[in-house]
Amino acid sequence: MQIVDSHCHINFPELVEDIDGLLTRMRENNVVKALCVSVQLEKFQEILDLSIKYPHVYASVGVHPDNRNCEEPTVKKLVSLSNHAKVVAIGETGLDYFRSKGDTEWQRDRFRVHIDASKQTGKPLIIHTREAGDDTLEILREQGRGQVNGVMHCFTETLPFALASIELGFLISFSGILTFKNAEDIRAVAKAIPIESIMIETDSPYLAPTPNRGKTNEPSYVRFVLDELARVKGLPIDVVAQKTTENFHRLFLKNVDESA
Ligand SMILES: [Zn+2]
Ligand SMILES: [Zn+2]
Repeated sequence: MQIVDSHCHINFPELVEDIDGLLTRMRENNVVKALCVSVQLEKFQEILDLSIKYPHVYASVGVHPDNRNCEEPTVKKLVSLSNHAKVVAIGETGLDYFRSKGDTEWQRDRFRVHIDASKQTGKPLIIHTREAGDDTLEILREQGRGQVNGVMHCFTETLPFALASIELGFLISFSGILTFKNAEDIRAVAKAIPIESIMIETDSPYLAPTPNRGKTNEPSYVRFVLDELARVKGLPIDVVAQKTTENFHRLFLKNVDESA
């Protein structure tokens, strides 16, 4: 069985300090790949270095919508930084109206910059959206013009949002939230959408799944998300592992020569 963590932040201090242990536990749990996602340009080199050092770690480049006081990305900069075989995506980007109150036009501008970088490079978008579903879809339609695809990561939105995203060519990625007791709505979405549109992730070090809720999350815990997804879908665990891994490969690694 091969499992992939489609979204983690293993360059964060609490995870990188035990990188060898973390990679060992990934191996022990059949977690064969992890995508380490960028949240600010100042830390991009750390992520790129990890992806170069470890063949089964991949990188993205982008600036998180919650990070206000950091280097503002330009299309040119994102395109230039993404010019590496291990950089397989643009993001994480998107809109977060839960954390950012007041004038959020800067978030939408920054989101458009990432969309343009995705268009230019052909690399998929990793989208973070929180309490901003309508604007996220509207900007994707306007700026993306059907020329971008990607993933709605750490899904917490509604079924209509999920279906509209799939229609636009996006996958839906479920995190440890899927295992939380009060997440009936999210489980209902997971049950309703096709397995061909689903990936799984940890978003570690945050959001550790049950039974490790409250602890520091890490890529090996994606096993618990897989188990819960299989239960919700009523499918064998190995089938769900295979499908979500295939989906990851189709989205992020179609142009990557893995023998290189
Ligand atoms: Zn996020
Ligand atoms: Zn993240």
